[in-house]
Amino acid sequence: MTIKLSSFGAAREVTGSTHLLSIDNKKLLMDCGLFQGKRFPTEERNRIFNFDPKDISSVVLSHGHCDHCCRLPYLGMLGFEGNVFATPATRDIAGLVMADTAHILEKDFEWLKKKKADYPYGPLFRIRDVLKILDQFITLSYRRTFNVMDSVKCTFYNAGHIIGSAMPVLEIGDGKRIAFTGDLGRKGTPIIHDPEYLPAVDYLMCEATYGNRLHDPIEDACRQLASVIKETVERGGKIIIPAFAVERTQDLIYYLHVLNNARKIPKIDIFVDSPMAFNATSIFRVHQECYDENIHEQFLIQNKNPFGFENLHYTTNVEESKRLNENKNPCIIISSSGMCEAGRILHHLKNNIEDPRNTILIVGYMAEDTLGRRIVERQPEVKIFGQPYHLNAKVKILNTFSAHADYNDLIDFVKHLDLQRLKKIFLVHAEDDALEQMKKRMLDVGVREVQIVDPQTEYELFA
Ligand SMILES: [Zn+2]
Repeated sequence: MTIKLSSFGAAREVTGSTHLLSIDNKKLLMDCGLFQGKRFPTEERNRIFNFDPKDISSVVLSHGHCDHCCRLPYLGMLGFEGNVFATPATRDIAGLVMADTAHILEKDFEWLKKKKADYPYGPLFRIRDVLKILDQFITLSYRRTFNVMDSVKCTFYNAGHIIGSAMPVLEIGDGKRIAFTGDLGRKGTPIIHDPEYLPAVDYLMCEATYGNRLHDPIEDACRQLASVIKETVERGGKIIIPAFAVERTQDLIYYLHVLNNARKIPKIDIFVDSPMAFNATSIFRVHQECYDENIHEQFLIQNKNPFGFENLHYTTNVEESKRLNENKNPCIIISSSGMCEAGRILHHLKNNIEDPRNTILIVGYMAEDTLGRRIVERQPEVKIFGQPYHLNAKVKILNTFSAHADYNDLIDFVKHLDLQRLKKIFLVHAEDDALEQMKKRMLDVGVREVQIVDPQTEYELFA
């Protein structure tokens, strides 16, 4: 039996997660994510798989983030006919995220067509392609072993990263084991279970996004959030929070609910102004199997909705969203997109950024060349919809909300593996500095061999 591993995305970078496992002549894909970044060369990269989608027998999907699932519709367009295995919550989140992406791609295409008549590309995929690939999903709960192909079994372990996130552990032939972390979460996040430790494996493909960073302790999140809200309300200002619609928004709502119940923040209106966040929250509500004990005790036993309380309002239509501008009272507005590149958050920033009483609260990663990054850098003037605005509002950054393990979390996770049996760790999903630092730290705690994965390079296992 010949087993080979190679990466076609998220090798020495953080987006486009796509890893191929070849077992003799059969091929299994782990994740099929979209590359994200500047239009060129991203547009071309997303169209080239560097393998034939028709040759793929099955896909195992770790979680529903765009950079892990959003090339699946395109894989289907190019002839992939196999099953996509995922947890039930991942199927629902991936469905929402892929549909949202299809919508953005189509809108983007219309805009480009107007601007540049000879633009060479149509949208990468459309909503009909999303619906088609969703028909190919098979959902399985954590810790239920299932067959993904002849002589290959898989079991999902909880990755604790976003709702539904899983680490597939593959068992091949007579008990050879290969695991993939997908994205690994942190312990103590408010809603979902903590990441699990894995059983003994021979090889691990491991993410290393924050292989060179430590986060603030999660216990600080509530305290920091409360103090930002109190200070802003005392000034008579509003708190504007750009947040990703999946997980980050629900974590925030949950914390605000807890703070509100404990009367640790003033009773002001809280608006979640994002249709995507509203839909994602509905998915959270039905997947209570993913919640940890804390939320069970605090909410579910008393039959309360963790994502609903008196002064929390979801705005789903444009008129309601526009009316928020007329509201002169202190309030909290949570809106997407997370990096302030598109969506309703732009209107809220435009209307509130010049008032020094307001606070823009940053709770997520802001990539280079985004409005979010320029706000983080506190540039005195920023452009919104092409117009200059003075950044007079306060900018506060809380990094306690990260959904990724930092290097201490990653090392703790690795130390709980059976290091006697573990032959090698393959590092993916990070930039070079994080990869190098993570490699060194893993070797220091006794991992026998660590390989930083290069793109499109075959690594033979059990050789
Ligand atoms: Zn992720």
